[in-house]
Amino acid sequence: MVEPIRMSTREEREQWLREAHYNVFQLKAEQVYIDLLTDSGTGSMTDRQWSAMMLGDESYAGAKSFYHFEETVQRILGLKYVIPTHQGRAAENVLFSFLVKEGDIIPGNAHFDTTKGHIEARHAHAVDVTTDDAKDTQKEVPFKGNVSLEKLEKVLKENPGRVPFMVLTVTNNTVGGQPVSMKNIKETCVLCHRYDVPVVMDSARFAENAYFIKMREPGYANKTIKEIVREMYEQVDAATMSAKKDAIVNMGGFIATNRKDWFEGAKFFCIPFEGYVTYGGLNGRDMEAIAVGLDENTEFDMLQTRVHQVRHLAEKLDEYGIPYQRPAGGHAIFVDADKVLTHVPKEEFPAQTLTCELYLEAGIRACEIGYMLADRDPDTHENRFCGLDLLRLAIPRRVYTDNHMDVVAAALKNVYDRRESITRGVAIEWEAPLMRHFTVQLKRLG
Ligand SMILES: *Cc1c(COP(=O)(O)O)cnc(C)c1O
Repeated sequence: MVEPIRMSTREEREQWLREAHYNVFQLKAEQVYIDLLTDSGTGSMTDRQWSAMMLGDESYAGAKSFYHFEETVQRILGLKYVIPTHQGRAAENVLFSFLVKEGDIIPGNAHFDTTKGHIEARHAHAVDVTTDDAKDTQKEVPFKGNVSLEKLEKVLKENPGRVPFMVLTVTNNTVGGQPVSMKNIKETCVLCHRYDVPVVMDSARFAENAYFIKMREPGYANKTIKEIVREMYEQVDAATMSAKKDAIVNMGGFIATNRKDWFEGAKFFCIPFEGYVTYGGLNGRDMEAIAVGLDENTEFDMLQTRVHQVRHLAEKLDEYGIPYQRPAGGHAIFVDADKVLTHVPKEEFPAQTLTCELYLEAGIRACEIGYMLADRDPDTHENRFCGLDLLRLAIPRRVYTDNHMDVVAAALKNVYDRRESITRGVAIEWEAPLMRHFTVQLKRLG
């Protein structure tokens, strides 16, 4: 399906952005020309997915569509117990309600914002154990999303009895859609299990991760994506999944686990939060679409086309000398805003400022994955300026052409060319205590 898009004038965009308090989440979609805010729930479904939706069984309990969905998750991931949820954060909410207690420590390779939010909202701590490779955007290593085993072991050793599980995120979204190698997945799981700590795979982009294992890791070139996926999940105890990414549906998610005790515990929270355990916040037709999407998107050709489009945008940025997290990841290009807007002090949020500049330039909506998203430290209430400050250009699946990517790159080049003249950023006028980036209200300085 296609939809018409409309060009706007710079004057219109100035006004709309002011009305949105310089937060692109608060723009209307109609005010956006090319929307790279997220690849979550924004993909186009296939003819087979649309057909499957017509077969949706909307029975309250035990719907045929649930069993079709459950069988597909079991076959593709190899995990036994499946609970549907309305999206990924709902899977986190249900599972963490059972597993996370106040004061717990949950290590992970750069927790996703909602994952961190669900941990911190329960007065527990999310500790980042990503490899230091990820901090240097210009360093080219094949698996920049990896876990640092030293950092992980330190956390496990120092906190006996306080670590209910570890979160292994594939691909590592927060550091730039960077993959985790099979070797690192295995070593991480062996280490956790040695300390009796289970591993939950945060699975939003598991298929893209499997693609990178096939393309970059010795020994996997001749394995199918489905074989690699099975091997990934053989290592872990459970998965939380946002089906809005690699299952290519508009809404959906699930929990899957081999642990009966977790399944029973999570079911208890699914019913009040999400709904009865055979629909968990989803329509029967949604579960049909997820089932088909999981099957289709664990095939090589689909993933190859997608990752090549991301690389096409990266190659354009290379041509213009614009720095981004290297190498190009699976679902997005993450521009290193600190290196672009070098005159904007970090207290004035360079990446957030760059989202405003790119929108004003060409009506392109990107997303800040930086100091704004990092929220304040829950103990000191200071801004967290320790990580990367990135502008994410997330590419919806099967929606835009490479021509759109060329327009995005050209617009970014125009901003890049006048970067020396951008000396002031934004200041916070109002913010929420958690996950502030969605609703924050800003003013422009200077
Ligand atoms: C999107 C995402 C989530 C949350 O999923 P939603 O469907 O948006 O609620 C969790 N973890 C990762 C890594 C994600 O990319």
